Amino acid sequence: MDRPEIVISFSPDLHVFVGRAHRGGESAVRTDGASSLGHVVESLGVPLTEVGELTVDAVEARPSHVPAAGERIAVRGVTRPQRLPGPARFLLDVHLGTLARRLRLLGVDAAYENLDIGDAALAARSAAEERVMLSRDRGLLHRRELWAGAYVYSHRPEEQLTDVLSRFTPPLAPWTRCTACNGELRAATKESVHTALRDGTERTYDVYARCTACDQVYWRGAHHARLTAIVDDAMRAFG
Ligand SMILES: [Zn+2]
Repeated sequence: MDRPEIVISFSPDLHVFVGRAHRGGESAVRTDGASSLGHVVESLGVPLTEVGELTVDAVEARPSHVPAAGERIAVRGVTRPQRLPGPARFLLDVHLGTLARRLRLLGVDAAYENLDIGDAALAARSAAEERVMLSRDRGLLHRRELWAGAYVYSHRPEEQLTDVLSRFTPPLAPWTRCTACNGELRAATKESVHTALRDGTERTYDVYARCTACDQVYWRGAHHARLTAIVDDAMRAFG
């Protein structure tokens, strides 16, 4: 089969995904003559979840376009903030537990699988519950079933949180969600949770909430200083 040569360039924010040969501006690529532009971009390492505008000879194109010989393709990253087809809800893979707890701390709906249930099950859950799949696994982000997906660019939880908040700008409501299970919290009095408290806790701290899903009790206390700093930082930048 004829193998047409095209010229392709990637914007700098996508260089993390592509080989060195494609980081310096335009480069020539031979395609199989039948694959879509989306497939060609993915085969060069870029998950389509990270692709914003695609142009062919400076005209906007869709991922389903089949490139022809001599075409000049430009691939740009997503624009921030990124619009979603529905509310900003998330699903995080097994490696992103810390990020999940921090999102929940801010009241963001962040489901998390602490078992490795496999890519197919994760993608199916993303589709069924209309959640943005967050992962550092490009293979998972290639899956067609995903409702939406996003590559998490850093391995550091502080940078991951900023990455997700700046990209999707979910509404923040700190201290309204259970960091253990993602359930919603309801205000509680000290009396109503008496049996759940350990000796000393009751005297020292004020109970303020209980999880409607797992019954976890939350109280305000000195150990909140680190969490309060995370909340304050996020609210300053994105609240
Ligand atoms: Zn809970």
